[in-house]
Amino acid sequence: MDKVIPQFLFEQELPSASLYVVASPIGNLGDITLRALHVLNQVDGIACEDTRHSAQLLKHYDIRKPLMAIHEHNEMEAANILIDHLRNGERWAYLSDAGTPGISDPGARLVMQVGGQGFRTIPIPGASALTGALSVCGSILLASSGQFQFLGFLPNHNKEFDQTLERMIQSALPSVFYESPHRLSKTFLKLSKAVPEERGIFVARELSKKFESICHLKPSELLPWLEHPNNQKGEFVIVLSGSNKKGAEPEHADSTKLAGLLKDHMGSRDIAAILSSLFGLKKNEAYEIAISSKEKG
Ligand code: SAM
Repeated sequence: MDKVIPQFLFEQELPSASLYVVASPIGNLGDITLRALHVLNQVDGIACEDTRHSAQLLKHYDIRKPLMAIHEHNEMEAANILIDHLRNGERWAYLSDAGTPGISDPGARLVMQVGGQGFRTIPIPGASALTGALSVCGSILLASSGQFQFLGFLPNHNKEFDQTLERMIQSALPSVFYESPHRLSKTFLKLSKAVPEERGIFVARELSKKFESICHLKPSELLPWLEHPNNQKGEFVIVLSGSNKKGAEPEHADSTKLAGLLKDHMGSRDIAAILSSLFGLKKNEAYEIAISSKEKG
């Protein structure tokens, strides 16, 4: 492997006692960076969301390292074991199943625990379905001067789903979200009923895979598009264009502003409760806004 790795990769030191958070491919195994391969070759061990899944990627690149599973059921315990390795001065990497860890994937809690113990967490950037889709959605991003809001997976629960959809419809920002094949019909049905016809919907399907396809649709075209059986399969990123109605404001800007006004007067939990009831935000979303307003000081 070292034969094809350019010398410049060795010029940057890889600090010991650190966790390297490594982006991996979202489909095509070729979408891993040279630096990611270099780091994976240098670390003492690799923690994975799913060791069987990551083993295939590592086998492909002939990387043999001790693997450790860190998933939501053993996260605290496994993170402590990993931290013990860091205490011994080792370097470890973390791989989620696909794309960038922490983006609708595990990783954030591990990073928080490792950072909380005073160890470095180092990002090794690379593929993500989010950036892949945005890089080819063109007109929608152009209309918003490149701004967007990312919602991850929309809520499962009907009421929360409808509230989130309503916020996306009202928002001046384009809304980007992830969707899985088994929920796609339901989501498209709701979008086709609720989204005004003048809005655009961009669908990025199976990025970097054999049956990759992207298309711009109007709400009335969603259900006919779905009738093609192939279009119901695979993984999806969906972008809803922003509203250009006068007065449409990005709710996050409003909620962030309110959090800023409240931050010196109450705790994060109380701020989050107010944001969530006023703006219909999910609890964790509201809490994050509250926390970051406190951190900004
Ligand atoms: N961490 C990943 C990232 O950086 O993109 C996302 C992981 S999330 C659990 C998986 C979701 O990402 C899928 O349900 C789909 O919505 C989206 N996704 C992942 N791979 C994709 C691909 N090749 N094409 C389109 N969407 C994809």
